[in-house]
Amino acid sequence: MIVLAGMNLEEIESITDGLKASKFHAKQVHNWIYNKSVSAIDEMTDLSKDFRGKLSEIATVTDTKIKTKQVSSDGTIKYLIEYPDGECVETVLMRFDNRANLTACVSSQVGCAVNCSFCATGKCGFIRNLNYKEIIEQVLTIQRDTGLKVTNIVFMGQGEPLLNLDNVLKALDIFNTDFQIGTRRITISTSGIIPRIDELANLELQSTLAVSLHAPNHKLRAELMPIENKYPIDKLQQALKNYVDKTGRRITIEYIMIKGFNDTIEAAKELAMYLKNIKCNVNLIPYNSVVETKYKKSLNNDVMQFKYILEHSGKKVTVRLERGADIDAACGQLRGKNVLNN
Ligand code: SF4
Repeated sequence: MIVLAGMNLEEIESITDGLKASKFHAKQVHNWIYNKSVSAIDEMTDLSKDFRGKLSEIATVTDTKIKTKQVSSDGTIKYLIEYPDGECVETVLMRFDNRANLTACVSSQVGCAVNCSFCATGKCGFIRNLNYKEIIEQVLTIQRDTGLKVTNIVFMGQGEPLLNLDNVLKALDIFNTDFQIGTRRITISTSGIIPRIDELANLELQSTLAVSLHAPNHKLRAELMPIENKYPIDKLQQALKNYVDKTGRRITIEYIMIKGFNDTIEAAKELAMYLKNIKCNVNLIPYNSVVETKYKKSLNNDVMQFKYILEHSGKKVTVRLERGADIDAACGQLRGKNVLNN
């Protein structure tokens, strides 16, 4: 059975051509999938019953299902989406009260090989890459379930997007062309895979690159992120400078605040020095505790002090609003719970 979700207009045309239908039929199908977010061919009511019948014999809108759904008191919705092979990933919809933005946080892999010590996904290990259609499906699932149109995408769910770059770039193209989501509204995050950052720099993409730094020096970073031993922080610094030079884009530096570990005055000063010549904003993230780790969330005062030092060095700093804390909406937590409970 052909799955229509994730197909671009040309691919849908090749299906409708095979059914001896007009190109306009293809446009209608495309519109029902990406703008009206239907779940079934029978819901495409401006197509004749005869055509819907023929199309249903060979195709389906989707082959994935929502395994679990949690709604937070702050409006964040977290889905666990199941693919036909039984593998699951998380997708989160975040709404911000004062803005019309609806941001989908999508996964790029099932599990993750990077194994950051603060992350539940890392503990499950790497299972497989998602293909671009499976990435697209996550956003369509949100649109179908809520009836709302997603306006922003962040590749910050499970997996390391730059270790599945071909599929991430194909998905990005479809988000841009078929969903009409501007490239600048799409953020790709990475734990710091230097050769792939260089590749992205050469593509001169206009999407935002978010780099999970989480520590100001090799010793602390290696404790949190084993990838530091392969792609060390000093070489990463050079890659980030090169990225900014080539793309002209400002990078986002992600920094999880862990009590007594990386939230000290010394760490803030060291980070400010490290970032001195890199055009970037800094996003401080209060650590959302995962049961199996020893780390604790920083005290508010320490976060504010850290923020002040970075701002004083000339950086724009935001403290990420804690979304969905009551529904385990931190990276990998929902899938982690399901896997651990099964
Ligand atoms: S934080 Fe991201 S890169 Fe690190 S293990 Fe978790 S999913 Fe992988």
